[in-house]
Amino acid sequence: MTTTDATVDFKHLSDAEWHKRLNAEQYYVLRKHGTERAGTSPLNHEKRKGTFACAGCDQPLFASETKFESGTGWPSFYAPLPDAVGEKSDRSFFMTRTEVHCSRCEGHLGHVFNDGPRPTGLRYCMNGVALQFHPSAAAAS
Ligand SMILES: [Zn+2]
Repeated sequence: MTTTDATVDFKHLSDAEWHKRLNAEQYYVLRKHGTERAGTSPLNHEKRKGTFACAGCDQPLFASETKFESGTGWPSFYAPLPDAVGEKSDRSFFMTRTEVHCSRCEGHLGHVFNDGPRPTGLRYCMNGVALQFHPSAAAAS
């Protein structure tokens, strides 16, 4: 079996296949639009240079340069990488928010709000469990 991620059709994986690929927390957030408890992600304190990728399909989503300390307890960014994420209106919980998901596997990542810092004024409030951090080569040495 030599199935690599490059050949996987992430948009059409079955629920059972996602269960195999993800741990329980990742599955709950990415596939069931869950939210991790604030302050629980080690990525809140990740300050190295590198790339934050999707925990579901490993597509690069955010560069460390766009990460900022929002004080919310969730990893926050002011801009995603080009074409990395999709957004849609989310009317659950009796309010309208903008849901953010990975453009490759459609895994739920978090929400985006309009109270972020410059230059975009946006705050991508992400679940750390939906991300995996890859330090840049220079930072890792
Ligand atoms: Zn993904």
